[in-house]
Amino acid sequence: MSRPAFPALRRGNPRVALIEGDARHSYAALESRIEAFARGLLGEKDHSTGERVAVLMPAGRDYVTALHGIWRAGGIAVPLNVAAAAPELEYCLAQAGVTRVMTSRKHPIALDPVCKRLGIEARDVDDVVGACRQQRPLPAVERSRPAMIVFTSGTTSKPKGAVITHKAIGVQVTTLIKAWRWTRNDSIPLFLPLHHLHGIINVLSCALWCGAAVHAMPKLDVARLCEQAAGGAYSLFMAVPTLYVKLIEHIESLAAAQRKAVCDGFRRMRLNVSGSAACPVQVFERWKALTGQALLERYGATETGMAISNPYDGKRRAGYVGQVLPGITALLFDENDQPVQKETVPGEVRIRGESVFQGYWNDEPATRASFKGGWFRTGDIAVVEDGYYRILGRSSVDIIKSCGYKLSALEIEGVLLGHEAIAEAAVIGVPDDTWGEIVAAAVTLKQGASLDLPGLRQWCAGRMSSYKAPRRLKVMDGLPRNAMGKVIKSALRDLL
Ligand code: AMP
Repeated sequence: MSRPAFPALRRGNPRVALIEGDARHSYAALESRIEAFARGLLGEKDHSTGERVAVLMPAGRDYVTALHGIWRAGGIAVPLNVAAAAPELEYCLAQAGVTRVMTSRKHPIALDPVCKRLGIEARDVDDVVGACRQQRPLPAVERSRPAMIVFTSGTTSKPKGAVITHKAIGVQVTTLIKAWRWTRNDSIPLFLPLHHLHGIINVLSCALWCGAAVHAMPKLDVARLCEQAAGGAYSLFMAVPTLYVKLIEHIESLAAAQRKAVCDGFRRMRLNVSGSAACPVQVFERWKALTGQALLERYGATETGMAISNPYDGKRRAGYVGQVLPGITALLFDENDQPVQKETVPGEVRIRGESVFQGYWNDEPATRASFKGGWFRTGDIAVVEDGYYRILGRSSVDIIKSCGYKLSALEIEGVLLGHEAIAEAAVIGVPDDTWGEIVAAAVTLKQGASLDLPGLRQWCAGRMSSYKAPRRLKVMDGLPRNAMGKVIKSALRDLL
């Protein structure tokens, strides 16, 4: 094939693809801008041959141009977190061997020192489009080639770059389009961060594949979302549980008439989806009481795409993630690596199939460790009850799910240990109604030193994203450790 197949993205398609502020961009206009970008990126070259090109900007026309333009040129897109601190960005850029970073003039990000240190170039999307001089044909891009490196936090201390092929993207997208009945008449808001599959695949790519309209919101604005919903702008809505909590709070704070208008707006949509973290049953029920919508909860991971989903037509059960999606193979395995035979027996979710990632970029040991007999080991423990999967939690306590992000406790501990007052640090997640989990730290201090939470959070600013900075702190005389010298994190839970 000559290019990744997004059927709606073609010249001559006049339908609206993106709504960005007052601007409406048609599929046809996007397509010619993507082609110009790809030619500008290629310059004199015929093929990008796997050059890693980072994309660092929020949702909008520039993001779509860069992502698809990199794909058309044969490059590998590395979408990065616009809210990440400089050291975090630097790590990902270096790890993926990025040679160019695409930014948007509309959303400038201070990158100069990082780029200088790494010897890489930051380019504005407009400039790359403007650099297109000739109408040379774009290269043929094999579907088996890597399309993206998406960074995820693993159980180790550093994020890992999951390599996802064009083919896997196609399978993920077409699976969801079918399961959730996407059509070109859909319209959906996009406010999720675009360095994560939830935003990239479930919202943006599904919409652009089938010709629907995406309302790009560069920054989450709950009040605006509610106004737009009340005005009937959306047919579909996808968010993390934390956002539904925020929406409920906002809606409940409105005057009666306005509240009714917003609730009716959500009621008229054809589907509301929740995922990326467990949706508390109370949230499911409150949302249903307010809007009449039974949230469709689904389960997936960066490495696998979406794997399990409540049904579109059948009963959506609160606290459950539903059934394995058609075309995906998932099984629960016990501790002896045997498939679980009976319902109600928990096991680790393992996934196989064309939607699964290729491996971690430049990390063969981590890739090998994450597969067993061809199955990807998610590290999540689940159980099937009456034909519905229920996620019990991660097999490891070191991954903290906060605000839809997956945070590595070890990574945060590593940064905290750089504080002059801290001798030892152990980080865990503690349950929280709004954020899913919040980061809590237990520390011991160096002799004569003192530390409080506001001081620690201030110190963390600029060293890590704000959502990673601890929201609870416990100063201890000694951390509980086992005979092997490892911190017993379960013993910290009650204390924090
Ligand atoms: P990420 O790779 O950042 O998307 O994180 C994937 C992880 O998020 C999974 O391995 C699960 O631990 C968690 N996750 C995703 N969706 C759900 C869900 N609906 N319920 C519980 N956990 C979820």
